[in-house]
Amino acid sequence: MGESTGSLQERVLMDGLSDMIFVMAIRENGSVIYEFINRAARQALGVQSDIIGRSIAETIGDERGRVLETVYRRVAVAGEPVVYEDCYLAELGGKRHSEASLTPLFEDGKCTHVVAAVRDVTEKFLARQSAELMSGRLELGGSRYRALFENNSDAVFELDEGGRILSANRAAELLFSTRSDALAGNFFTDLVTGGDRPRAADALLNADASGRTDIRLDVRAGDGPVGCLLNFTPVVSAGKRVGCYAHLKDMRELDKLVGQFMESERRFRIIAEHVRDVILVVDEAWDFLYVSPASRKVFGYDPEELARSNGRAHVFPEDERRLRRAFNRAVGGEGTFTLRLRLAHAEKGWIWSELTGSAVFGSDGGFLHMVLVVRDITRQKEAEERLQNYAYHDPLTGLPNRRLFYERLHQRLDRYIKTGEPFAVILMDIDGFKQINDTRGHEAGDEVIRAFGARVAGAVDHGFVARHGGDEFVVLIMECRDEQEAEAVGRKILDTLDFPLPVASQPIRVSTSLGIALAAPGRSTPEALLRLADQAMYQAKKSGRGRLRIL
Ligand code: GH3
Ligand code: MG
Repeated sequence: MGESTGSLQERVLMDGLSDMIFVMAIRENGSVIYEFINRAARQALGVQSDIIGRSIAETIGDERGRVLETVYRRVAVAGEPVVYEDCYLAELGGKRHSEASLTPLFEDGKCTHVVAAVRDVTEKFLARQSAELMSGRLELGGSRYRALFENNSDAVFELDEGGRILSANRAAELLFSTRSDALAGNFFTDLVTGGDRPRAADALLNADASGRTDIRLDVRAGDGPVGCLLNFTPVVSAGKRVGCYAHLKDMRELDKLVGQFMESERRFRIIAEHVRDVILVVDEAWDFLYVSPASRKVFGYDPEELARSNGRAHVFPEDERRLRRAFNRAVGGEGTFTLRLRLAHAEKGWIWSELTGSAVFGSDGGFLHMVLVVRDITRQKEAEERLQNYAYHDPLTGLPNRRLFYERLHQRLDRYIKTGEPFAVILMDIDGFKQINDTRGHEAGDEVIRAFGARVAGAVDHGFVARHGGDEFVVLIMECRDEQEAEAVGRKILDTLDFPLPVASQPIRVSTSLGIALAAPGRSTPEALLRLADQAMYQAKKSGRGRLRIL
């Protein structure tokens, strides 16, 4: 599969991230609309994808919503990434602290979207709180504080009141590829790249206990600048500031994800919104997570309206089981599947569609989503049916041809061999047909063949009538216990020929000779049965035409 699937999957992979991802559209009127939120965000906030298309103001009606909207708008206006800290009430209860990295997306130089990658920093927040709490009584809480300091996965520095490094934890040593004792004595701000240094110095000077001093900057790590989030927490002893902790969070991973998202999002939109096939993303419960605009043209449904429904309602009931099985197999890791099934069209009812499904899995191997590509194959299906009809039907009479007859005869013989349920075949040939051709012309001959076929078909109730070729016709009598039953069917055919056949120039009376063969042990192939029917017919012809013989 090409790039298209890759980028689609990348996008869908967003749902595998533990960070919450929000893609917000910034409207001209200043409203900020949820355009995409990933699974982590839906779970953490306890919201469904139905908030898509709604504004923050509609969704979070209180002061918090207004603040949040202002933050997004500011990012859009300034066109600069911003880090924003917030706290919210989690679905599972409890107050959580988050850190959002907001990145503007531009289209034609105008900011149209803001992507927020939000990380839960409750642990960090609590650690900071306890550090603050303990800064006044370091002796007492020393060991606990040490553990928080040392084991922190982010780089943490202990600074003196002049901003010099006293010590650095293991994560800091790794980030700067320098041992703690070699870092000690340097000014912390010297670790920051030149351009960002004044802002770092300013933040250090103004650090207060609120902890709201996060700034985005680049530090001079071993291999070059590394994007980080910096936060200072003052250490206060007896009401006096005696030093500070500097907390540096490496943002490379998150930045990369945002970058990838922007790229894959852009690619996804180009693909999804410009192809003629309908692209759908559904979750395990067949709820739509994404519906591409082509749904309007192909299925007559507005994509947003469709996205609010469940996939089940759109599958023809008889086809649902097949789809469910293929879906579950794909979820179980059996790759891509393609099915032909009937799907709902807003006006036309059920239409034949071809659906290809690809399951997308997260990095932990868990199922995330199914990406479905659907197309209308009504025309194709009709053409195939026409071809099928052509291959199995006689064009002159419209009746099944010899090929289809043999298939049916095969099936019926198999059943006979398995169950012993008897049946019979009739072979018949129009008497003196050549003469009709000779005296009335080939056209009239054709009309006779057509009218004869229709008569025979009309005379047979539980049988399968086919044109065997030329002026020969065959009948498969599905249920036939004995010669009497076979004869009854044969007589009925002969009786219908008492009346002339309608032929344009002048109606014609024809007779036919019938040979009947009953299924019996030893008559186990279609050829064997037809050979017998042929012998019987030959005898019928010989005995004076317009008769039937049974073998
Ligand atoms: P018999 O009573 O022994 O069956 O004599 P018959 O004249 O019917 O002879 P036979 O069944 O052998 O001849 C069938 C003729 O049907 C031969 C062929 O020219 C003619 N035929 C075959 N197919 C067609 C067709 O599609 N249209 C027309 N008009 N004639 C056909
Ligand atoms: Mg004939």
